[in-house]
Amino acid sequence: MLNADSKLENVPRIGAKYAAILGKLGIETIKDFLMHLPFRYEDYSERISIENLSTDMTATVMGEVVKSKLIRTWKKKILITECHIKDDTGIVRAVWFNQPYVSDSLVEGKGVRISGKISEDKKGIYFANPSWEFSSRTPTNTGRLVPIYPETEGLTSKWIRWQIQLLFKFASQIEDPIPENILSQLHLPNIKTALQYAHFPKTLKQAELAQKRFAFEQMFMLQLVSQSIKVSWDKQSAVQIPFDEKLTKDFVNSLPFSLTNAQKKAAFQILKDMEKPRPMNRLLNGDVGSGKTVVAAMASLSAINSGFQVALMAPTEVLARQHFESICKLFKDNKINIALLTNSYREINNFKFQTLNFESSLNLKNSNLKIDSKIKQNKSSQLSREDLLLKIKNGEINLIIGTHALIQKDIKFKNLALVIVDEQHRFGVQQRAYLQQEAINIDDGIKGKIPHFLTMTATPIPRTLALAFFGNLNLSVLDEMPKNRKRITTKIVGASERNSTYEFVRNEIKNGRQAFIIFPLVEESQKLSELKAATEEHERLSKNVFPDLKLALLHGRLKSNEKEKVMQDFKNKKYDILVSTSVVEVGIDVPNATIMIIEDADRFGLSQLHQFRGRVGRNDLQSYCFLFAKSSTLSKSRLRAMEKFSSGFDIADQDLKLRGPGEFLGTRQSGIPDVAMQHISNVKLIEIAHEYAEKTLKESPDLKKFPLLEKEISKFQKNVHLE
Ligand code: ADP
Ligand code: MG
Repeated sequence: MLNADSKLENVPRIGAKYAAILGKLGIETIKDFLMHLPFRYEDYSERISIENLSTDMTATVMGEVVKSKLIRTWKKKILITECHIKDDTGIVRAVWFNQPYVSDSLVEGKGVRISGKISEDKKGIYFANPSWEFSSRTPTNTGRLVPIYPETEGLTSKWIRWQIQLLFKFASQIEDPIPENILSQLHLPNIKTALQYAHFPKTLKQAELAQKRFAFEQMFMLQLVSQSIKVSWDKQSAVQIPFDEKLTKDFVNSLPFSLTNAQKKAAFQILKDMEKPRPMNRLLNGDVGSGKTVVAAMASLSAINSGFQVALMAPTEVLARQHFESICKLFKDNKINIALLTNSYREINNFKFQTLNFESSLNLKNSNLKIDSKIKQNKSSQLSREDLLLKIKNGEINLIIGTHALIQKDIKFKNLALVIVDEQHRFGVQQRAYLQQEAINIDDGIKGKIPHFLTMTATPIPRTLALAFFGNLNLSVLDEMPKNRKRITTKIVGASERNSTYEFVRNEIKNGRQAFIIFPLVEESQKLSELKAATEEHERLSKNVFPDLKLALLHGRLKSNEKEKVMQDFKNKKYDILVSTSVVEVGIDVPNATIMIIEDADRFGLSQLHQFRGRVGRNDLQSYCFLFAKSSTLSKSRLRAMEKFSSGFDIADQDLKLRGPGEFLGTRQSGIPDVAMQHISNVKLIEIAHEYAEKTLKESPDLKKFPLLEKEISKFQKNVHLE
């Protein structure tokens, strides 16, 4: 017997094939499927007489097919199905392009219902590519408010509509996680009614009410998750790290540049936080290149100087190494032992460790980022995993840098007082919550205390979103760029200017510069063909465009040590151009690279383009960003924002306005459904969700009084996957 929790593969009409496709959307059970909500509606509810149709209106008519034919156009080889439909008041044409099977079904004498937009040509008005179904069927795709669902390859809204209709009887088995009194106070429908309203709305008002309910539900859950972590966080205590003014000043004076005001302010806020007996919980939000690393270094120095250890984590191994390199440089005058711990050398001996002991022989003053090769020469600094773990445990290592695995593995510290997480662009709420939970559970070596917690993100977050997601933590913003930066010249390049742009790039390279070329391949479904496309693109560029230059290729199918080698080689100027898919996080710092070309730029969000652009302009040379785009005016007008704005915060605001929060955050990354996303810019809703989450946790801090909520939330947390 099927029930709401049955797996979809056991539903006869769906079967293994569709179950697999739905699985990609995270839909596994009947309940999941019923919770797959439309993101908009086509209003086909108004049925009118054919005589009342006029151009540009969206309408539904019912009638009988009186003529039907399939035409093939000569020039364009397009198949056109043309039907004439008659009701009591007149006859209208309906036309479908490249859907020849329509003419098989719509034969003379059939009763049909047709919904769509009315167009006009020489022969008069007609329905262009309308939705249709036989009039004997319950209105599903026509004649009502027709829901449009998030689709994926091999899955249409039309198919989803039929399936939902047949499975809807199971909706009554779904229990409502939101307590009844909250629903009634907010005048929101219960889950069963809301599902009815969402999938089969009689009016737009019903559909909106359903959306509101589910948006509230998601926001409420989100707030519960982050607030319950805050509750457990606030109960903890942390070591107090005194703010040593002289130490900080000396360090700042040793830098080859002066700090921006924003950096000073952020560093001060952090150092003040760490003085308190409560663990810090702060987010450092700053554009790419705004100088977050120095701020993190100042916090680290303070903790280390007080005799404690610090862990710094990056999302990828390459970025961990980069931090390692820049932090080693920053601390060249301080007696600090720094270790890098990643598993990118798994092939050799599972783990490879590198430490730099500045008390010993290395002199970095005259070397530019050649730390890597130096270490390799310096045999004595290569340690086994055990050696390093021991040195962490006994406190010989002051600062350990690695990936998130650092705190997930069973590493024991002597006295870890500060955890810094560089999230880069992934500021998924769940991931953040998860890391924070991990930080609480970490074996920091200090009894009864937990480490101070600092996260850094390179995604400028608009204010409304910051409120929604990070209402429970302190925020420091680096909204000011270092002064020595030149504005990156950004230009949208159409097909006709391609060659001259390539020429320009060649010239820059001849002058010793380097270039990135990014091309998009982001869809999950395209992953398999990624290798092929990447290779082809690399070949095309190497053979036809830049045969005289050295091109490297980077794509997601490379192993991480292979990726690292390519990037390192690029950095060491073994290549002129790095061709990369967008799947690969090109978070690498190559000061000599001054050109960023982005293919099919119109396929990216502005914020993502801005992230790519941030890869260049990392020194005082003039840098360039070329956005290759199809010449549709629409996408160009969107891309104009890139030419106009250089601040990530301005671009984020634009992005949010133009694409809405779902696209802005990338729903997949944030783990928040579209419906909720559409309402996230609705500050009021966020505030209400916040308030009710607070009340609920006050009533039952462990949620034991609300078992359904507790269940939903642990599901929420389980869905977190770190790489
Ligand atoms: P991000 O915020 O992207 O992590 P980084 O910390 O990597 O930025 O800094 C980017 C570059 O800018 C580094 O080379 C760093 O040394 C340099 N930098 C940082 N702060 C300043 C400053 N105030 N003035 C000049 N250069 C700076
Ligand atoms: Mg950084």
